[in-house]
Amino acid sequence: EAQQEIHFFFPRQNTLALIKPNSAQEHKAEILEEIKSKGFAIKNQQEKYLSEEVAEEFYKEHKDKPFFSQLVQFICSGPCLQLVLSKENAVEDWRMMMGPTDPNRAKEVSPDSLRARFGSDILHNAVHGSSSVEQSDREIRLLFGDLSAAVTSTEGEEDGFVFV
Ligand code: GDP
Repeated sequence: EAQQEIHFFFPRQNTLALIKPNSAQEHKAEILEEIKSKGFAIKNQQEKYLSEEVAEEFYKEHKDKPFFSQLVQFICSGPCLQLVLSKENAVEDWRMMMGPTDPNRAKEVSPDSLRARFGSDILHNAVHGSSSVEQSDREIRLLFGDLSAAVTSTEGEEDGFVFV
């Protein structure tokens, strides 16, 4: 009797990654190497200052939080390396690589993560990653503008699961 094998695939996704200003920038080459070694394709990248206007839009879900103005000020304090990363399950896998928001917690639960290694406190936590596919589409469009049309398309990258 033929055995049926079921192969599951995670959907191929894009996610928006930021290497935040200052300290993290010093480790950019190392972080990029690690990103590639984990199987992410870098579909697009640019190194730029975020304007205050773009930063406020980027972080609008936090606009009522007490740390909103320091967050915007920090993210605009130097150039950000902005990356469109692509692979199966990219959103979740990049967030796993980043570790928890607070580097002190990251050091406890995920010492190899980027925030554990390169973050200094909950605000200055080295890296950003989209929290969902919907957020990644929004963030990529916001930071890459018209260029994003080419990179957000997943046409021809059929995914899901198949029965063999
Ligand atoms: P993330 O998805 O892990 O980046 O976390 P959030 O979306 O909750 O927060 C966005 C960013 O705001 C974080 O990456 C931190 O830079 C900053 N942040 C989050 N929580 C705090 C906080 O309690 N205090 C301060 N000062 N900054 C925070």
